[in-house]
Amino acid sequence: MWKERKGKLKRAIYPGSFDPVTCGHLDIIKRASRIFDELYVVVFENVGKSPLFTAEERVEMLVEACKGMENVKVSCSSGLLVDFARKHGIQVIIKGLRAVSDFDYEFKMALMNKKLAPEVDTLFMMTSVEYLFLSSSLVKETVSYGGCVEGLVPPNVLPKLRDKFRRHS
Ligand code: ADP
Repeated sequence: MWKERKGKLKRAIYPGSFDPVTCGHLDIIKRASRIFDELYVVVFENVGKSPLFTAEERVEMLVEACKGMENVKVSCSSGLLVDFARKHGIQVIIKGLRAVSDFDYEFKMALMNKKLAPEVDTLFMMTSVEYLFLSSSLVKETVSYGGCVEGLVPPNVLPKLRDKFRRHS
């Protein structure tokens, strides 16, 4: 018999750019939120990327998309991931894996994070097969040429994307 979990809450963080959140991200969020007591979904400002949406817009879209998931907290940070984890008593970093191409970068990042914070573990979750090809950048590229991404991003994101590209064109 499994014992009832006592004491310390199991907290995880799912970090990303979420520029914008896709159904692939949302699928990982739903699955991880069933495993952990609390899941922090955090928009990280990435110095190497120039985002389409501001951090505030990305947080807003995530909050809306995660409505009803009681143990999911959305926020943003510009600092170091492991510092955020330590500050909030988070033991696990969740990463989504789509293909071998994700693995090389994520593997190095996981080892660096382990070096910086040995008490925090990285856990990789496989994408669901229907989202294998899906990335925020592909979504943006498709919409920029007038393509339809219905079913690939949460419904609240669709008008925001259209609006951005209308203004950009
Ligand atoms: P991207 O711009 O590549 O979509 P993000 O930085 O927003 O990336 O991604 C955050 C996390 O979500 C990463 O761990 C990434 O591997 C994962 N992820 C992104 N898209 C998917 C997907 N379709 N299925 C599973 N995981 C995904």
